[in-house]
Amino acid sequence: MADYYETLGVSRGADVQEIRKAYRRLAMQHHPDRNQGSREAEERFKEVTRAYEILSSPEKRELYDRYGEQGVNRGHGGGGFGGFDFSDAIEIFMRDFGSGGGFGDLFGRRPSGTPRSPGGKGIRLRLRLTLGEVASGVDKRLRVSLLEPCEDCGATGALGSGPTLCPACNGTGQERISRHSPLGQFVSVQPCRMCAGQGEIIRDPCPTCRGEGRVREESTITVEVPAGVSTENYITLRGQGNVGPRGGPRGDITVLIAVEDHPDFKRDGNDLVHELHVTFTQAALGDHVDVPTVGGSAPLSVPAGVQTGEVLRMRGLGLPDLDGGMKGDQLVRVVVWTPEDLDRRQREALERLREVEDPVPEHAGRGRRGFWARVKEAFVP
Ligand SMILES: [Zn+2]
Ligand SMILES: [Zn+2]
Repeated sequence: MADYYETLGVSRGADVQEIRKAYRRLAMQHHPDRNQGSREAEERFKEVTRAYEILSSPEKRELYDRYGEQGVNRGHGGGGFGGFDFSDAIEIFMRDFGSGGGFGDLFGRRPSGTPRSPGGKGIRLRLRLTLGEVASGVDKRLRVSLLEPCEDCGATGALGSGPTLCPACNGTGQERISRHSPLGQFVSVQPCRMCAGQGEIIRDPCPTCRGEGRVREESTITVEVPAGVSTENYITLRGQGNVGPRGGPRGDITVLIAVEDHPDFKRDGNDLVHELHVTFTQAALGDHVDVPTVGGSAPLSVPAGVQTGEVLRMRGLGLPDLDGGMKGDQLVRVVVWTPEDLDRRQREALERLREVEDPVPEHAGRGRRGFWARVKEAFVP
């Protein structure tokens, strides 16, 4: 029975970073292209990939830690590596390490004779939104510096007759290198050094873009932000980012949402919590007041005898639901404000009140639930 931790040579407490690093090193070491297609290397490559696939997924790792291989082989007929073959292993490696670092070339995924320009790198932007913009939804225009096709060379990077097939690799973008070592011949495939894996070379590079086929320009993009987003959300603008070198497809723009704090409201999902300060007489006698809402203000009736900490619900005055569900509520937490500086008339009035008021009753504060308990209660119809 395989111990996946041992297979990768990591401790049981290793974090994802360590697991990735260990796997990457072993995968490179045992990759069949680097081992003259040896069956043994292929088996080792499968083993380490299988171990990596389990330990890099928190769910699978937990099952493995608890139940061992049985825990993660359900659905594979329970037969060890059943259903996990070499192509699965390559698939997993490509999925997690395929882009960047030239692994695509190393693994010979580039169809020979058809070099393809790589796509533009994805970019990330942060978009700050006010609570008001979250409530209504908004179209935001953003200035962004993007790599655009070079017009002087038609995005080819070359002047005159354009790029020509690389004579070193004959357009495949790959180079096989054999080295002799005491253990025998060692063959590796790497990106062609003459064309940097492009499959074509430029004899007469465009001076505007220095052969890149693209230049940096200021652009404006519009981001449609739906109502109800929060800081955890992001918006992907597919194919609107940088163009790739020499006519490669555009990458994506990922817009990370950042909702600014609001001085009057705290957000709790789709609900907004607002703290309302009332005077002693407003609390004792009741009142009609206007309270700020995210869209302006709205009237609220303060019931006579309201206590500090009580929560009044203003239905439907919260934030819209991102998935189109019910709008949230505004929850108003009442706080009775005690005056700090009394003038002579106020003092006299309060002293007269003291002569007639009742003492605080025995039951005051007892059985009174906390603020958050009341907020939760407000969700129960
Ligand atoms: Zn080449
Ligand atoms: Zn150019």
